[in-house]
Amino acid sequence: MLDERKVAVETDFLVERIDGRTLVSYDEREIGFDLLVTVPLNMGAEFVARSGLGNELNLVPVDKHTLLSTAYPNIFALGDASDIPASKAGSVALFSAEVFTENFVRYVRGEPMTACFDGRVVGRQPDDGRAHHRGLQEPLALGHRVGGQHSRDGRAPGAAAG
Ligand SMILES: Cc1cc2nc3c(=O)[nH]c(=O)nc-3n(C[C@H](O)[C@H](O)[C@H](O)COP(=O)(O)OP(=O)(O)OC[C@H]3O[C@@H](n4cnc5c(N)ncnc54)[C@H](O)[C@@H]3O)c2cc1C
Repeated sequence: MLDERKVAVETDFLVERIDGRTLVSYDEREIGFDLLVTVPLNMGAEFVARSGLGNELNLVPVDKHTLLSTAYPNIFALGDASDIPASKAGSVALFSAEVFTENFVRYVRGEPMTACFDGRVVGRQPDDGRAHHRGLQEPLALGHRVGGQHSRDGRAPGAAAG
């Protein structure tokens, strides 16, 4: 279909500069254009960068189920600030807030975090109970996360079982 419509795809083309009507990539490839429509890299907020909590995209790395920071045991991040692999959308912020509030209360009580964000970006239909679109780019496997400061059930190291 792309051939039919005379669409050429140039992959891994990282724009370094624009010379007149030519795009130039970091590896010195050039593509001419008549009309340029370009989308800048979608990054997190500058204040996240200044805080030192962000990754290279100014997003706070969190456990994608519990939204607890993977670096700090007393910080949660949700919405656009987090690095969960879901859309940066108001609906994601809304649904992840539901998970956060439930988990936060359990967390401060020293109980396991049982609420689990599933990447939902739209509401569930009453007829089938399933999300119509999952926002996460991969299915969320249940089970215990390894290598972090908290297990998947959210129990902090040394915390009493809930
Ligand atoms: C043009 C546009 C259209 C969009 N359309 C849609 C849509 O149709 N549907 C959809 O689902 N999503 C849409 N979105 C995305 C949606 O707006 C965001 O994903 C959502 O607002 C994220 O919510 P948040 O609470 O994480 O962050 P935000 O809504 O950005 O809230 C962050 C808050 O932090 C405040 N803040 C910033 N710095 C500081 C500081 N230093 N101290 C204290 N407070 C601070 C800000 O003022 C802001 O109020 C759109 C976004 C844009 C820009």
